[in-house]
Amino acid sequence: MSEVRVRFAPSPTGFFHIGSARTALFNWLYAKHTGGQFILRVEDTDKERNTEEALQVLIEGMQWLGLDWDEGPGKGGQFGPYFQSQRSAVYEEYLNLLKSKNRVYEKEGALWFRLEGERYIEYDDFKKAEVEKVKNTPVVIDDAIRGRVERTEERDFVIVRSNGEPVFHFVNVVDDISMNITHVIRGEDHLSNTSKHVELFKAFGVKPPIFAHIPLILKESGPGKMSKRDKGALIEEYQKRGFVSDAVCNYICLLGWNPKDDQEKMSIQTIIERFDFDGINKGNARFDEQKLAALNSEYLKELSIETLTQLALPELEEAGCVTDQTDREYLHSVLRLVQPKIKSLDTLADYVGYFFQERYEEDAKALARIQKNGDAKNLLLEIMEVFEAQEAYTSEQLEETLTQIASKHQRKLFAYFPIIRFAISGRSGGPDLLPLLAVMGRDRVLSRLRAFLENTSI
Ligand code: GLU
Repeated sequence: MSEVRVRFAPSPTGFFHIGSARTALFNWLYAKHTGGQFILRVEDTDKERNTEEALQVLIEGMQWLGLDWDEGPGKGGQFGPYFQSQRSAVYEEYLNLLKSKNRVYEKEGALWFRLEGERYIEYDDFKKAEVEKVKNTPVVIDDAIRGRVERTEERDFVIVRSNGEPVFHFVNVVDDISMNITHVIRGEDHLSNTSKHVELFKAFGVKPPIFAHIPLILKESGPGKMSKRDKGALIEEYQKRGFVSDAVCNYICLLGWNPKDDQEKMSIQTIIERFDFDGINKGNARFDEQKLAALNSEYLKELSIETLTQLALPELEEAGCVTDQTDREYLHSVLRLVQPKIKSLDTLADYVGYFFQERYEEDAKALARIQKNGDAKNLLLEIMEVFEAQEAYTSEQLEETLTQIASKHQRKLFAYFPIIRFAISGRSGGPDLLPLLAVMGRDRVLSRLRAFLENTSI
């Protein structure tokens, strides 16, 4: 086990944003890559927003993505508690430590952190007031992603509000110290806080961790970072829409990281092996829905039939295609048939609905094409007798039968395909016809062909 200890420190808001998920994922990957520990610490100091349900969304999202933590809620660990709301005693202790170093003073009920250095008064145009500033040397941050960043803190800042609540900067640093965090991997939006954090580390006499600030995720088009209102921004959405979690995970890794050779589809094991700060881009990443959809479709094609069924069931049940009564064998064979063709589970119910419903809509364009043919009904009548007499309905046997019928009537084999497909599905497209007939089976195919012949006006 290495010394590396990283943490994901979310403030639960009720959403699991793709940016947070990526921060969690990069921390997790770094821990796995280095053989270190991954800690989940809940920064739940905002009592209004940080509800139990909000936490649940986060935990479920992380579990769905497969991001297990070594220490944290539900796991425990020797550095707990892992909820900031339960760590008042720790903050008290560290506050006293700062006080003993004469780095805390009270002003207007709040507690302020005193910077070191010579003080002077300056007129602040914006606030229209005189403010006290400190002649201070710049804080140098050797960021593992951004490189050298310098920033000067020249004003004292509040660490405990007048209502007694400790401020983010203070608790964040105290927790990183008391939990022995070695690397802080977080969103670039925190880079501007880091000089405050480093000042606090210095005041405690502790060497700061290594910082790695990950660039932003921009929305699909236009400027600005992705917000929770943007399509595709929430992990729980992917969960609901039946995305393959490995695909989502793989895609999120590519938001700001790449393994230099532009490879995209990679197992999580491969990513763990190859993941390092070197591969994280300095520039912002842009969300690309199509790329995610393409990866998802590749993953869908590789799922075991059991997993595919599990993912597809909610969708199919909701659309009313599948019920408790649906034969599982049949369901499996339908899914196996369409698996190479499906792009997402969103559209699956529409794609396979007719397999399960004896009444299906006739596609108007497909019908028009059939009618244009003029001969379609004759074609069906030609095969009917033979199809009725035949027992075996494998793909090969059906092909043999149709080849014989075709040669008897001096037609091409494929002449029969569109009308058969239309009669049994109401469509002009779908999975390959002969395997489709084999999956539907003799009884279903015959009863559909008969019903079609009886009712059709073609
Ligand atoms: N609670 C902070 C956030 O959600 C954590 C910042 C950090 O990782 O240090 O942005």
